[in-house]
Amino acid sequence: MMKQLQEEEPSYYRSSDGVWKRTGGCSTECGACCQYMILPLHAAMLSQPPERLSDWIKWAEYHGIEILVDRGAGSISAKVSLKCEKLADDLTCSVYGTDERPIMCNKYPLHPLDLEGELAEICTYEFSKITST
Ligand code: SF4
Ligand code: SF4
Repeated sequence: MMKQLQEEEPSYYRSSDGVWKRTGGCSTECGACCQYMILPLHAAMLSQPPERLSDWIKWAEYHGIEILVDRGAGSISAKVSLKCEKLADDLTCSVYGTDERPIMCNKYPLHPLDLEGELAEICTYEFSKITST
């Protein structure tokens, strides 16, 4: 089946770095953002000696966990490949439109950082900055 964009009205989001305009929409037959979790880790991990942090990142990757480090934002998080149990075989959300669907899924994506890495190429939402703080 072909991916089809479900165009939405533009929406606006305020974050610590300004106001963003979101255009585009979700695509059918995608589900790319439902195949993993991003779990924030304690920022204090970034203060470790670099060789210790690199060693820990290697160890985590041996367990199939990718570690995302953003020194500019002072954040570190773990990307765990784990498909949501509510993602149906046809790549639709089986709880779409119900109270069972997490609110964060209804609002996703809220910021360009939500679309880092390969998702930026796959996702059919786009962000443009309206004002900076
Ligand atoms: S990656 Fe984007 S287009 Fe694909 S399912 Fe998620 S929100 Fe929709
Ligand atoms: S609840 Fe639905 S939209 Fe949210 S991650 Fe699971 S399948 Fe995706």
